[in-house]
Amino acid sequence: MDYIRTDGKNKDFIENCRLLDMDLDRRVGRQIKREKYQKFNQLDEIREAIVVYDGDKPIGGGAIRRYDEENIELKRVFVHNEYQGRGIGSKLVSLLIEWAAELGYRRMILETGELLAESCAVYKKLGFEVIPNYGPYVDMPESLCMGKTIKSIIILGSGGCVSTPRPCCNCRVCKQARQKGFPYARTGCSLFIEGANILIDTPEDINDALNHADVRKVEHIFYSHCDPDHTMGMRVIEQLKMDWLADSVGKKQDDPLEVASLPTILEDIKQQGTKYGSALAYYEAKGLIRTKGIRTVQKDNMVIDLVPVDAEEHVAVFVILAGGKKVIYAPCDVKPFPQSEQFQDADVLIIGNTIVGDVLKDGFVLEEDNPLRGELFTLDEIDALRRQYGMKEVIITHLEEDWGKTYDDYKKLEGELKFIRFAYDGMRIPL
Ligand SMILES: [Zn+2]
Ligand SMILES: [Zn+2]
Repeated sequence: MDYIRTDGKNKDFIENCRLLDMDLDRRVGRQIKREKYQKFNQLDEIREAIVVYDGDKPIGGGAIRRYDEENIELKRVFVHNEYQGRGIGSKLVSLLIEWAAELGYRRMILETGELLAESCAVYKKLGFEVIPNYGPYVDMPESLCMGKTIKSIIILGSGGCVSTPRPCCNCRVCKQARQKGFPYARTGCSLFIEGANILIDTPEDINDALNHADVRKVEHIFYSHCDPDHTMGMRVIEQLKMDWLADSVGKKQDDPLEVASLPTILEDIKQQGTKYGSALAYYEAKGLIRTKGIRTVQKDNMVIDLVPVDAEEHVAVFVILAGGKKVIYAPCDVKPFPQSEQFQDADVLIIGNTIVGDVLKDGFVLEEDNPLRGELFTLDEIDALRRQYGMKEVIITHLEEDWGKTYDDYKKLEGELKFIRFAYDGMRIPL
């Protein structure tokens, strides 16, 4: 089966909707007056639709439509009768949820009927719960409304040791980033796990990254290692938790952030500070944070394991198990890549440390004996890693301005590569 993205004007999608209406008339039409629903099913307002094909033959489809800022509505899902019961409907809905996540919606809602028991069962399996009838369905007792929170892993910052645009640099990449902003601009390397509310790493421009992705709540900060490009924005702890006015009248913060990593990494980071001493120790004394050495954590139906990259345990790779997906996050200092069974069959590997191309910024040619090759992977090495562990897909992050490539250049390159995509700030990986 092929699941093809299109819009509400696609003729195969429109035909599928006609078949859905016929099916509904046959099954429930006689018991409830279906005409009153018709005005809520206008196809020309639908911008995101998927049609399912068996070879050339359209055999099903569905769509999503903006409801408000936060919510998107699932609409017009139908699989031809002879294809039902093969999991096509649930795959179709999963792909529509993924699309909604990419568009940045936080919740999916839908209206169905209690008479449509099979559909309800599929939605429940996908994590939808019954909610009070919304909007046009409030006074329709035969309607049943359901909703599901959409969670994603968000690449907050896809940039490298320096962010893009680099101050005062007038190269092609920086010029474009300055003119167009995101996604041409890139902040330092960081990640956010929605639901568990875990921020991984705090580069200097983490505030901009959090605001750009519209993150609402951070409860934990995990660190991958102590290098400055991943830690020097730790004053974000003050921005998130310090209330100087409350502090001035002796009121203490009673809901500290948890700052966590492998115990050795935490010790490394505690050595960073000013003449006043360790920055983390100061925040802990102020009650803004609580530090904790960890190897694994469970939260919000997710399990996150920290796999040490080296025997001394100064760098960690994160294995995130959530929503039936396995996502590996290995942002920096991960060559040679550690061997672990935990990486087997991952859905996505998000990895930094990769040189993209042999000709870099301003025509710089990376020779075979260049020492950077010892620290950084090539795209071929990344693909070998993917095959070794049977991973489905790789997303390259920590994209250096030095690689001399714009957002458009990466998009073009993606078209030529199989299984490899390039990160951008605000990119969402639905769970
Ligand atoms: Zn530049
Ligand atoms: Zn780094």
